[in-house]
Amino acid sequence: MKKYALVTGGSRGIGRAVCLRLAEMGYSILINYKGNEVEALNTKSLCEEKGVEAELLRFDVGNKNDIEEILGKWVQDAGKEKCIEVLVNNAGIRQDTLMAMMSDEQWRSVLDTSLEGMFYVTKTVLTPMLFNRYGRIINMVSLSGIKGMSGQVNYSAAKAGMIGATKALAQEIAKRNVTVNAVAPGFISSDMTSDLNEQELSNLIPMKRFGKPEEVADLVGFLASKQASYITGQVVSINGGLYT
Ligand code: NAP
Repeated sequence: MKKYALVTGGSRGIGRAVCLRLAEMGYSILINYKGNEVEALNTKSLCEEKGVEAELLRFDVGNKNDIEEILGKWVQDAGKEKCIEVLVNNAGIRQDTLMAMMSDEQWRSVLDTSLEGMFYVTKTVLTPMLFNRYGRIINMVSLSGIKGMSGQVNYSAAKAGMIGATKALAQEIAKRNVTVNAVAPGFISSDMTSDLNEQELSNLIPMKRFGKPEEVADLVGFLASKQASYITGQVVSINGGLYT
């Protein structure tokens, strides 16, 4: 059976680095993205350079119908030939503003992408994982979901919701050898943080720098490995010492 890793939001940033790390581990890679075809194709080529197969799966993780049509069909067609062994729920967006000014759209779009996306994508790939009695689910959360951040009521709520779901699902499926963990980055250099004042914010971080997507990917790679077999229901922070 050919083993796949599905990474949502795999076209850029942390998601791309995770795709490459999982490719190094020998997984065939399913790269989900929302619209940036050029970057998704770049990730695909980079994975192929590692000697594995990579497929693009374009769907909006915030759209249940999209997920059913594209990912649901992939899972159905996979039959007994292919299986998704690793799922990384990484797609996410920021729409920062103070709550008093937050529009319904800013609230909904952030919740839909992170929290709802995690629910519907995971539900679509879960049954075969349980049937195979092996799997790794890793949810990309944030420091913001642990401590809350001003200007991010939507984002903090979405990521805190994912943390609760991670802990609950981990207990439901532990006996099937499917682990569920969350990774909580602090500030990582990517398109998502390109509008922030990196120099100023770095002063707040004990390590005095932003993290790299590859550093997050190494942690995801470990949690996705066989070596992490007794770790489930955990939130692992990766933030240069910013939060204790
Ligand atoms: P990024 O550079 O902005 O990349 C976002 C990725 O998510 C892109 O691949 C994008 O696809 C995809 N995406 C966005 N909305 C989507 C949707 N509705 N459906 C499918 N894909 C969608 O972000 P990043 O910094 O790598 O962040 C990745 C994850 O880490 C996010 O969940 C974020 O909240 C979390 N995180 C990041 C930081 C940080 O400092 N960067 C810190 C803590 C947590 P397209 O290319 O098609 O647009």
